[in-house]
Amino acid sequence: MSISIQIAYLIASILFVLGIKMMNKTKSARQGNRLSALGMFIAIVATLLQIEVISLVEIFGCIVLGSAIGLYYANKVEMTKMPEMVALFNGFGGLASFSVALSDYFLRTEVNMESIELVTVISIIVSVFIGGVTFTGSIIAFLKLNGNISGSPITFKGQHPLNLVLFLSFLAAATYTVIDQSDPILIIALIVISLILGVLTVIPIGGADMPVVISLLNSYSGMAACATGFILNNNVLIVAGSLVGASGIILTQIMCKAMNRSLVNVLLGGFGQTVSAGAEDGPAITVKEIGVEETAMLFDSVSSVIVVPGYGMAVAQAQHVIRELMEQCEKRNIDFKFAIHPVAGRMPGHMNVLLAEANISYDKLIEMESINDDFPNTDLVLIVGANDVVNPAARNNPQSPIYGMPILNADKARTVIVSKRSMGKGYAGVENELFGYPNCLMLFGDAKQTITKVVSEMKEM
Ligand code: NAP
Repeated sequence: MSISIQIAYLIASILFVLGIKMMNKTKSARQGNRLSALGMFIAIVATLLQIEVISLVEIFGCIVLGSAIGLYYANKVEMTKMPEMVALFNGFGGLASFSVALSDYFLRTEVNMESIELVTVISIIVSVFIGGVTFTGSIIAFLKLNGNISGSPITFKGQHPLNLVLFLSFLAAATYTVIDQSDPILIIALIVISLILGVLTVIPIGGADMPVVISLLNSYSGMAACATGFILNNNVLIVAGSLVGASGIILTQIMCKAMNRSLVNVLLGGFGQTVSAGAEDGPAITVKEIGVEETAMLFDSVSSVIVVPGYGMAVAQAQHVIRELMEQCEKRNIDFKFAIHPVAGRMPGHMNVLLAEANISYDKLIEMESINDDFPNTDLVLIVGANDVVNPAARNNPQSPIYGMPILNADKARTVIVSKRSMGKGYAGVENELFGYPNCLMLFGDAKQTITKVVSEMKEM
């Protein structure tokens, strides 16, 4: 590889690192994204300049086809379906690494009849394993999220011992592959076992733990790409893969903390089995309703408001009307901010993206740790389509499946208004005792429609 290509790869890697660092802060995230994209452009051009095996026409054909499909789906996908899309991205990332590793293996052993260096053969095995697990695991996560297979944990007797036997068989086949690189049966065994393990490790995971799985699979796809970088001796792939692998693991850890799951539990699979719809239904909750006019009057009389957005805000696409509500409140000198739970919605950062889309400035969005102590001093909390992330059962009911999950202390505010359509449960499928609290009022109806009416009322006051 020429020195100029190496330099281009180095520049691309630096841009990736800087880009990821800038994504740390909401304000610089867009710029970080642009820098990383520039890094990727440089990496692609540098790679195209060294093409030997296939023609540029074939490569551009694939790029155009892939980009067209990607563009079509990126434009078509609804915000609420993003986690499914991310699951597919991860899966295809894993499949790409898996395919490159296999083609490299067959090119070397069957076409060129050469023996493969130890480090390369180990990288091929690692890439096949992680890529295969990521591919089928992500497809299962996708099917679970879009409801084509049950979102509840799918378990059977002897599941963990079977996983262990399969893993040990993989290790045995991998060891023999290192010794006898030319036996195609061994590599086929590695392919089959890794694909089955991907399915088996994700099917027992259900309910509220799915975001952790997606983030973990994202990390796996990075690790697979990193292993493929070693096979191809491509430094930029090693750096980019490591960055995705490491950031995915960090995000997984943040989410585990936010959902009160341990990482070991995640890595072993089979977690989330305690979460099932209606698992802890208690006595019926009696609620107090509030209408649109009274809500508007209440807003008119307070001096501090915190909005807690959740998945329902995304469903209703209520973010724009909430900005109008904020403008009405600010006209009245009401202190107005948003409380962001790390797993509100259906993907990390879901609420931030929606609120940014409605031009709500980043400094209004306060993370859970920073805002939780403000609730007791707040006059009014408006919960818009959030449920699990404000469920006090997570704090005080050890029988609840979400017990231990950190929540927003919305219940501690002087008055709480909950905007949702019905008494429907949230993602974890559990009742929310907050709705029956004396300081809680239910504003029933689609969030966008009811809040639009509240804003119109306020405009007329
Ligand atoms: P949630 O607990 O899923 O509750 C959403 C609520 O929105 C529902 O109770 C629903 O009640 C209401 N809703 C739906 N459509 C609505 C509409 N048009 N207008 C008004 N309300 C509407 O949401 P959350 O509090 O944001 O909690 C997120 C949950 O998802 C957590 O359990 C989390 O672990 C999990 N999760 C998070 C991620 C992530 O990465 N953020 C990913 C996957 C899963 P009605 O039906 O009565 O309207």
